Amino acid sequence: MLEIDELRCRYGRIPALAGVSLRVNEGELVALVGANGAGKTTLLRAISGVQPAVGGCIRFEGQDLARRHARQRVQDGIIQVPEGRQVFTPLSVEDNLRLGAFARGSASHLDAVLALFPVLADKRREAAGNLSGGQQQMLAIGRALMARPRLLLLDEPGMGLSPRLVSEIFARIEALRAVGTTILLVDQNARAALGIADRAYVMETGRIVLEGRAADLLLDRSVQKAYLGAA
Ligand code: ATP
Repeated sequence: MLEIDELRCRYGRIPALAGVSLRVNEGELVALVGANGAGKTTLLRAISGVQPAVGGCIRFEGQDLARRHARQRVQDGIIQVPEGRQVFTPLSVEDNLRLGAFARGSASHLDAVLALFPVLADKRREAAGNLSGGQQQMLAIGRALMARPRLLLLDEPGMGLSPRLVSEIFARIEALRAVGTTILLVDQNARAALGIADRAYVMETGRIVLEGRAADLLLDRSVQKAYLGAA
């Protein structure tokens, strides 16, 4: 579904992606792990079209995305949940969700999304700013689901959350995968991300250094040492 070949991005003279190739097949949950600054967010932003590429190619469902603007990519069904959630804090939970269907999808999905996240249903009239961090993350994911994503890009959904909430959020992501949502998941919590993914890529300083089945990477000594806190 998503095919990236030799993608290169830079910030001024600083290279952020130095030839990244990656695949996400329909229905897969693919994790992208790596340390701070490896280039994971840049890659998601390049897929969404908010970060220009200086080389390489991104194809989505067979179509070269080079000439498709970020807004068109949303219409194609590429929906990103940004790092830090970025919900609209003065607006109600329900209005945040409705905004998710602005460019694609339909407000008629509201009840289905609220059914996935009962805590949001209970607070639908409250300002999003009153929600806890975990609830805001659910809202950010719910808002993306309103657009009926073909490909859901999740940037650090576990960031800043307690271990219990990370498990809860990751269980929801696993459930989305189980109903057929195609997902590319970035998280610094490699154990949690590899725990639910089908396949994974490990990134270091703008390059993919390892890829494979997530279950195999969890057992890989170099991954354990670098990312899973093994001695
Ligand atoms: P994090 O988990 O911190 O978001 P990351 O793996 O997502 O890390 P990126 O945010 O993609 O990494 O950053 C990749 C590289 O590009 C880093 O060296 C970072 O310092 C640099 N970088 C990121 N954004 C900018 C920017 N707006 N201007 C200049 N350099 C940037």
